[in-house]
Amino acid sequence: MDIECSPRENKLFELIGATAHAMNVSCYLVGGFVRDKILGRPTKDADIVCTGDGIALAHAVAAALPGRPQVNFFKTFGTAQFKLNGFDVEFVGARKESYTTDSRKPQVTPGTIQDDQLRRDFTVNAMAISLNKPDYGQLIDPFGGITDLKNKILRTPLGPDITFSDDPLRMMRGIRFATQLGFTIDPDVYEAIARNNERIKIVSQERITDELNKIMAAAKPSVGLDLLFRSGLLKEFFPQAVELSGVEIIEGKGHKDNFYHTLQVVDNTAAKSEDLWLRWAALLHDIGKPATKKFEEGHGWTFHGHEVVGERMTPRIFKQLKLPQNEKMKYVAKLVALHLRPISLTKEDITDSAMRRLLFDAGEEIDDLMILCESDITSKNKAKVKRYLENFELVKQRLKEVEEKDKIRNWQPPISGDEIMVLFGLTPSREVGVLKTAVREAILDGIIPNDYNAAYQLLLTKAQELNLKPVSGE
Ligand code: ATP
Ligand code: MG
Repeated sequence: MDIECSPRENKLFELIGATAHAMNVSCYLVGGFVRDKILGRPTKDADIVCTGDGIALAHAVAAALPGRPQVNFFKTFGTAQFKLNGFDVEFVGARKESYTTDSRKPQVTPGTIQDDQLRRDFTVNAMAISLNKPDYGQLIDPFGGITDLKNKILRTPLGPDITFSDDPLRMMRGIRFATQLGFTIDPDVYEAIARNNERIKIVSQERITDELNKIMAAAKPSVGLDLLFRSGLLKEFFPQAVELSGVEIIEGKGHKDNFYHTLQVVDNTAAKSEDLWLRWAALLHDIGKPATKKFEEGHGWTFHGHEVVGERMTPRIFKQLKLPQNEKMKYVAKLVALHLRPISLTKEDITDSAMRRLLFDAGEEIDDLMILCESDITSKNKAKVKRYLENFELVKQRLKEVEEKDKIRNWQPPISGDEIMVLFGLTPSREVGVLKTAVREAILDGIIPNDYNAAYQLLLTKAQELNLKPVSGE
């Protein structure tokens, strides 16, 4: 074998080869599996291409395996798949594809292994390993994929304009591989992406976002985000992010380039957390800045309220990008809304009540918020960074103390809205809200202690102001 496989994998591939031989067809390991084996990356699936009926081959192989794994297949695509001890094996007949200009759907006809390799996206993804008798285990690499792999370069088997216009998703895939694998995109290939960027419009948003999320999940997402920006792909599906870019100067005063600042914050966050949604919060944290940007004479640039605008933009952006419309979206919106809170507290502001408020407002998200906030401290001015970091550490320390003392995280006031309604014989109304808020605020501000009796006494006073009497007549 020209690639190093586990004994289990070798046994499976020998069986596939022997089964294909008996059926009088040729078959090959191909694509990501071959690439990742040569790179020494972990693999969890393998693609098999055969010259003939891939579905029939999958059934025959599965039938010869202990436990006879169940085969799933799609007749229209000629693909079949089964799982073996968590390992995914996919089969397809070798094909030749031709595309028309207005659709991603190619005309597919049976082809040779060379035809099949030619229709793949990048040379490093177009290498095959023969599983056939005469040359079993040999690498078939018509486009110099192995050299490109060694040089860490992404090139296309065909002219890049053809490859990308046939399937524009490949432009996203190229940038994703560059980010994930740390490869360089060949200059001609990059030029072709920049030339064909508008073609991405014919690809479904779900598939674009799949690639975007793989970029966001990489160790250094900024690599891909910057490539998306510079190649002009980003503006096609996420223009709000592009709006962040650039610097304006008035009266000799400039603001920072919020796009590159954002990329730095995403990378900083990625270095501290694997959480995809926390990384999204980093990507969106300043998204409200362009809409709130103002130059105040004698003072400079301001972005007042950008966190509120950003919070409101989040659901729209999630919808546009076909990201989940669920609690993940709410989580991101919440972090965007709160991202300034911890760092905006100056030494004098770090009071117990400010800490309680922050803990109450952030709830479960307090640790993630602190990661985002720390990641947001970027500046060319080292003294400034140092000052902010010191302040940040102070807030972190004080948060810990107040949390240990007051247990505000996931805290609920000692009297609920339901109880208030029963106490004063109210139906759901504005008054219930007023009373509930009064109790909560008084406790967070440290005006009354966090217990039922104190809350009840406060309620009585507040209720009197509203001309309400407790039902029991107390
Ligand atoms: P990963 O599994 O990490 O996403 P991969 O390269 O294995 O990367 P898959 O989507 O699993 O990607 O596809 C397997 C193989 O199929 C690729 O290596 C490539 O040869 C081919 N391929 C996938 N998508 C395309 C495409 N849009 N255009 C051309 N070839 C593709
Ligand atoms: Mg794969």
